[in-house]
Amino acid sequence: SAVIEIKKLQKKYDDTIVLKDITEEVKSGEVICVVGPSGAGKSTFLRCLNLLEQPTSGKVLFEGTDLTTLDEKHINGLREKMGMVFQSFNLFPNMTVLENLKLAPKKVKNMSDEEATKTAKHLLERVGLLEKADVYPTSLSGGQQQRVAIARALAMSPEVMLFDEPTSALDPEMVGEVLKVMQDLAEEGMTMVVVTHEMGFAKSVANKIWFMADGYIQESADPDTFFSHP
Ligand code: ADP
Ligand code: ADP
Repeated sequence: SAVIEIKKLQKKYDDTIVLKDITEEVKSGEVICVVGPSGAGKSTFLRCLNLLEQPTSGKVLFEGTDLTTLDEKHINGLREKMGMVFQSFNLFPNMTVLENLKLAPKKVKNMSDEEATKTAKHLLERVGLLEKADVYPTSLSGGQQQRVAIARALAMSPEVMLFDEPTSALDPEMVGEVLKVMQDLAEEGMTMVVVTHEMGFAKSVANKIWFMADGYIQESADPDTFFSHP
């Protein structure tokens, strides 16, 4: 069943049309990799899915609810169900790793300190960073920071995870550890939309490739079909 439905989505900035009439859906448990040249609109598209960008026209339905008609308060409620990971890790530098993970569950979900700690530690273990719970993010490598950012998004128990070029800012030797965490997540059945230039990941982990160029999804195909093109 469709978790996200995108209907005739358009996004303009002034006179520039960045997204042109996109209609697609994301099904439960699907891993979709969005690929294509720089400037194609991939990042804008991803940001329209959780209304970080307001679409100019068209609809984005999350579990049947049209996000484009909701007020900010209700969007925030639904946004919690869509975890997002950015190119630049966006961790709070003045909080320890553990505090980074506990903040939203406590503040937004009113989780008890004890439960938030337990959840956070479990997630840090899952991304292989339990021993870093009490350090500050700046003392971590880029790859470690991005794994913390993924754990932090997961702390809200999202139903979908959106990734915007999660490995593009990393030194090459750290890309693998982040992709491994993402692959584990995919294998656990997480619904994921991943904007990426990592074609090896797209080929081996995605169920579907959306090739975006010039503001359109020009091709939607399974990886075997997509990567068998000449
Ligand atoms: P991609 O992620 O595929 O590289 P983007 O979504 O970042 O593409 O950008 C698509 C196009 O939209 C680019 O031409 C970019 O300059 C333009 N764009 C993105 N954000 C804005 C904005 N806030 N204002 C004006 N133009 C923008
Ligand atoms: P990324 O590599 O993460 O896609 P970009 O360089 O495309 O980053 O965009 C960084 C920020 O600048 C985004 O918030 C985007 O919306 C904004 N932006 C991109 N292109 C333009 C533009 N032509 N005019 C104004 N803002 C832009």
